[in-house]
Amino acid sequence: MHLKIDRAVYAAIVRAAQQAAPLEACGLCGGKDGHVTRFYELTNADASGEHYRLLPEEQFATVKDLRVHTADLLAIWHSHPSSPARMSVEDLRLAFTPETVYLIVSLAVPDEPELRGFTVHHGQPETVDITLTARETNEDAP
Ligand SMILES: [Zn+2]
Repeated sequence: MHLKIDRAVYAAIVRAAQQAAPLEACGLCGGKDGHVTRFYELTNADASGEHYRLLPEEQFATVKDLRVHTADLLAIWHSHPSSPARMSVEDLRLAFTPETVYLIVSLAVPDEPELRGFTVHHGQPETVDITLTARETNEDAP
């Protein structure tokens, strides 16, 4: 699987992760046809540096906003302030939706944030290839 992510969204995820550290930041991403163009930061209801929990009412409001913009929910993102960009045991346990990409940004190397994506089938993570795109890019150009 392959996901394109607008550079502005990537920058927003990194910024949110850095601002929330040492706690985990989390949120949702939306777009169309595997291209993420919309970023939402949600409350980490766990207020923890080792796990996160999205609030159902915020998720609902986000999905509603995506619909207004005729976009789909494409990814759930969260940060790992000090551990690698890998799905933790807890992350895998809570990954219920096989269609959703789970994005993790790691700040383990502070100057080199690392963003990785995964889908989870039957508790097993599969890596999703990520390409960062410029907003100016004309996707229809040959
Ligand atoms: Zn995690």
